[in-house]
Amino acid sequence: MPENAQTHQIVVIPCLSDNYAVLIHNPDSGQTALVDAPEAAPIQAELDARGWTLTDILITHHHDDHIDGVAALRSGARVVGATADAHRLPALDLAVSDGDTIEVCGVITEVLDVSGHTLGHIAYHMPEVSAAFTADSLMAMGCGRLFEGTPDQMWTSLQKLRALPQDTMIYSGHEYTASNAKFALTIEPDNAALISRVRQITADRAVGTPTVPSKLSDEIATNPFLRADNPELQKAVNMAGANANDVFAYVRKAKDTF
Ligand code: ZN
Ligand code: FE
Repeated sequence: MPENAQTHQIVVIPCLSDNYAVLIHNPDSGQTALVDAPEAAPIQAELDARGWTLTDILITHHHDDHIDGVAALRSGARVVGATADAHRLPALDLAVSDGDTIEVCGVITEVLDVSGHTLGHIAYHMPEVSAAFTADSLMAMGCGRLFEGTPDQMWTSLQKLRALPQDTMIYSGHEYTASNAKFALTIEPDNAALISRVRQITADRAVGTPTVPSKLSDEIATNPFLRADNPELQKAVNMAGANANDVFAYVRKAKDTF
């Protein structure tokens, strides 16, 4: 009998100043996967508190704030990362590429290349648990800064993520949402969904509640980086009818100097 994927537990762990690591646990099999390892201590503490042992570590990209804890945590776990980034990641037990599907915690996990923030950045999508782990590609009301990729690459990556089922929960790598929200309002000050979401975010952050994960449908309605081809957004930035790549590049550049 297939196990009930709804029983998977997902835990978001604050690390460093504003990073998140994520644990996915299958209580039927006892398997536990970690997405990114900004630092070992808080992750190990969470594992100890729950009596969980890591079976997989899924790496999204090579930046230190996503891999520094891998060495201390990897014992016995399978370390997975992008083939394209293997030369600058901790030693991989499994190298994966766009379109690959692997089994993690007893469920199918799809690998998506979401280059832009870096070249070789990947995201992991678990359809059976309605979750995608996007790190510094798609973020709550934002997207990662373009350190290596072009605006066109990031826009292509975000379109892939936007095409996932609308109820997918997006687990991004940082708590940047409050500042992303301020920026989003400068782009679309009249977006009613955005205004009401910002109100909620502000209330959540005032009491320290994480804003990660967020629902993909909410991102589509409010995240300016997912809306470069949206007529309302294009009108708001005086680029009605423009090429979406150009609108995206404009919005990304505006955020860089915000
Ligand atoms: Zn990064
Ligand atoms: Fe990061």
